[in-house]
Amino acid sequence: LPIKADELVLLKKLGAGQGGTVSKVLHLPTQKSMARKIIPIDAKEVIQSQIIRELRIMHECDSPYIIGFYGAFIHESDVVICMEYVDCGSLDYIFKLTGPFPEFMLKHTAHSVLSGLIYLYDNHRIIHRDVKPSNVLLDSKGNMKLCDFGVSRELINSMADTFVGTSTYMSPERIQGGVYSVKGDVWSLGVMLYELASGQYAYGRDANQVAPDSILDLLQRIVNESPPALNPKDGFSPELCDFVSLCLKKEKQRWAPHDLIKHPFLQGFIGEDGFKVSSEYRGAIKKWAKNVRRVQKGKAMKG
Ligand code: ADP
Ligand code: MG
Repeated sequence: LPIKADELVLLKKLGAGQGGTVSKVLHLPTQKSMARKIIPIDAKEVIQSQIIRELRIMHECDSPYIIGFYGAFIHESDVVICMEYVDCGSLDYIFKLTGPFPEFMLKHTAHSVLSGLIYLYDNHRIIHRDVKPSNVLLDSKGNMKLCDFGVSRELINSMADTFVGTSTYMSPERIQGGVYSVKGDVWSLGVMLYELASGQYAYGRDANQVAPDSILDLLQRIVNESPPALNPKDGFSPELCDFVSLCLKKEKQRWAPHDLIKHPFLQGFIGEDGFKVSSEYRGAIKKWAKNVRRVQKGKAMKG
């Protein structure tokens, strides 16, 4: 059943990014909590209808690594997207509470993001285009899901007019205007893992906080400098260091998602059936996610 604007009651604001604002809302007819994203769009009616049509592909996305979709509609001059509300929030927000992630959570992040990218590309020929910590969500059962991927070409085009598409997670080849492939998303995953592991920004804070005159400098550094690297001397496993370095190679030498998911860093993480996370890791992940939720509710971190 299509969702209508006046059936949604605001519960709380979740955040605002370059492209829109996200709130937790209650859908009155179903009494379901949802995340509502509002994107102001300065586009003609035909374009708006085209965006809504294209967003319908999200109804067909069915994967534990992809955010659930309830529907999208136009309200006044906004595109409104209703998606699954994910209770622990995004990795950037979680990171601010927990600090650097333990390696099993880095494995979980790498595995979930790769599985999501593989699902989107193999089943729908979708390239994410905006992999970053705020677009990876964790629920208190430990599931990690991708959101805000590039399903609608018209939406991408319409947003390009209003916002600066620069991000500290952008690959060198994209900055240089080359063709954009799934490997660009792998670069972004590498930058993200580097930051979540080390607790340091790879290329400084996110681009919307960078002063406009230093953006060019930032982009030049991504293209010209050697990529950030993790060092086993700092207590990281050699497998993690190697995995991140393979994500951050120049496009030609960079590994593709299907190869990375078989990398030694993820060996033993995926169970016998080749799909589900093996049981010893599953327990630790659940416990960690539950703890995050406790901290968010103002209780102390356990164990
Ligand atoms: P950005 O991703 O650039 O931070 P967004 O507008 O996409 O900007 O999202 C704003 C914030 O809303 C995110 O940082 C995230 O913490 C939160 N958020 C987005 N989608 C959801 C969701 N489905 N469930 C819970 N929180 C969400
Ligand atoms: Mg987002």
